[in-house]
This record gives sequence, structure tokens and C-alpha cells, in this order.
Amino acid sequence: MNKEKCIIIGSGPAGYTAAIYASRANLHPLLIEGPQPGGQLTITTEVENFPGYPDGIDPFTMMDDMRRQAERFGTRIITGIVTKVDLSGESKKLWVEDTDLYETDALIIATGASAKFLGIQSEEDYRGKGVSACATCDGFFYRKKTVAVVGGGDTACEEALYLAGLCEKVYLIVRKPYLRASKIMQDRVLSNPKIEVLFEHNTLRLTGENRVEGADLIYKKGEPEEEIRHIDINGFFLAIGHKPNTDLFADYLTRDEEGYIVTEGDSPRTNVPGVYAAGDCADPHYRQAVVAAGSGCKAAMEAEKYIQNTKK
Ligand code: NDP
Repeated sequence: MNKEKCIIIGSGPAGYTAAIYASRANLHPLLIEGPQPGGQLTITTEVENFPGYPDGIDPFTMMDDMRRQAERFGTRIITGIVTKVDLSGESKKLWVEDTDLYETDALIIATGASAKFLGIQSEEDYRGKGVSACATCDGFFYRKKTVAVVGGGDTACEEALYLAGLCEKVYLIVRKPYLRASKIMQDRVLSNPKIEVLFEHNTLRLTGENRVEGADLIYKKGEPEEEIRHIDINGFFLAIGHKPNTDLFADYLTRDEEGYIVTEGDSPRTNVPGVYAAGDCADPHYRQAVVAAGSGCKAAMEAEKYIQNTKK
């Protein structure tokens, strides 16, 4: 068994920022890096909206810089998947890969969120070859091309509008006969001449030699008018929502109906004293690296205060 003062789960901007602050506060934190080192940012191609990088930066370099900054002040980093937790006692317990037990006074959860995918084989086959879950990250590569966005919510509409500013044509593939997005976003999408909304369509498969060149869609599945239709596209963007990576904590932490960890006001405090949530796992709204970094800072400051007050 390993006893720690402060454990941080997650190696995205929230986790590393928490680690920088916690290590500078002499908490000697242990950061557990999971299956996606560097977090969601590493699926983008270039980061242009994080302050301090006027020329943009590639996400791997940025995350490596954050990692080295955390290590410089004494953060220890291990790689592994936390498979079980017990947050019932004053000392919080974590199991890595089911076997290695860690105990900690303060726990900072920065496990992020994952974009939802449709679950069709093509998404795997064309991953990085025309399939993306982030228009703001990858849209630039599709300038003057034709793309499709899947989804009918605010994110899908936002992404379709963003892409319409870059691309020649944007299909919005919506499974229902209506958009779920807010009225204002619907109006913008429906009045944009570059966007064609395909209501009541579902994606069957993507096609193309080496990268996405088209998609086979099914219209009105299961109805008399059912029909397979093909569209020519160069890019396929998923915008069907995100799932916060919080299932592990379901027995102990209050979560909202979508699974985001509920925190107290604008603090990172959860319903369990000594347990803090930072970044996208607790943020259904902003989901930005700079916001995640800020909440990681808050979580470390709260953890330090907690440890001081409980005289560990
Ligand atoms: P939502 O859950 O609101 O929308 C998801 C969309 O994806 C729905 O249209 C849903 O269809 C569709 N979908 C889900 N699964 C599938 C599937 N398997 N196949 C095809 N379509 C699918 O997620 P968002 O990310 O859009 O938004 C999340 C929250 O963030 C919302 O509250 C939203 O309002 C908010 N938001 C606000 C913004 C703003 O105010 N600027 C910007 C972005 C998000 P169906 O409708 O049939 O369920």
C-alpha cells in the first residue's frame, strides 16, 4: 500500500495544472496518467487558442511542456488505469489495474470526457483519415472541401456553422425530423446556404480508398420510404455529444444526469470532503483547455487548504 498526500487522476491540462500547483505547495503529488496521455487535446492537430502561444503550438509539445513543468517541482507520474475507488473513509483508496492500492488524503479527479462515436466500424477504419470529433481542431484541413457533420444539437450546429465558414459545402446528418439545438442555432443553420440538413438520415458506412471520400446513409430506416443514399464528402465530423469519464466514481460522487461531477458553486469541491473535480469531467459547458487548466489550479489550492485544515 502506498500512502500519499495528494493524488491527481488525469494528464490533461486540468491534471497537469493541478500537479504544478500541488507540487509547488509541497504536497508532493502523484499523478496517474491514464490511457490517453495528454488528454483530449492530443487528438487535435494544433492549439491556437491557449494564451501564450502566438504562433500556435502542437498539442503534444504543449502537453509535454506542462508535464515537464509539473515534474520540475516534484510531481511523480505513473501510468495506469484506476479501476476501483473507495471514497467512503477519510483516507481515499484507489486501485490501479485492480492490484496496486494507493491511499491519499486529497484526491483531484481530472479524468476528462470523451467524444461519443456512432459505433460503426468505418469510424475506426478511417480514424485520422477524414474522421474527426472536433471541427474547431481539424476544420482547417478541409478548406474549400465538402464535409458532413453528424448530430442535431447545439454542438453539431456550431460545428456545421464553423465548417461552413471554411468549406465549400456542409451536410448536417440528423437522425430525427427536427433539430434539438436552440432556436437561434437552428435558424442560423437552416438559413446558411452552404449547409444542407439531411433530416431522418443515419450513417451506414464511410467509403473511400485511403481516406474518407463518401458516406452511405439510410433515409427513414424501417419506414416504407426507406432508401440508401450516398453523399460525396472529404471529412466526417461527429458531434453527437461527450461522455464524461466519471463512471468509476458513481457510488460516491453526485453527478448530473449526463454523468458530469457536480461541484459546489464555481469551486471544484465535490460532495465528498477532500475530493475535487477539475476540467471536462465536471464541465458540461465550456470544455476548453484553458478553462480546464484554471479549474486544476483551483482544485490544487483547495486540496492544500483541506490538508492544512485537517492537520495531516
Ligand atoms: P446534445 O446531447 O444536445 O445533442 C446530441 C445530438 O446528437 C442530438 O441531436 C442527438 O440526436 C444526436 N445523436 C446522439 N446519438 C446519436 C447517434 N447515435 N446517431 C445520430 N445522432 C445522434 O449534445 P451537444 O454536444 O450538442 O450539447 C450538449 C450540451 O451543451 C447541450 O445542453 C447544449 O445545449 C450545450 N451546448 C451549448 C452551446 C452553446 O450554447 N453555444 C454549444 C454547444 C453545446 P437526438 O436529437 O435524436 O437525440
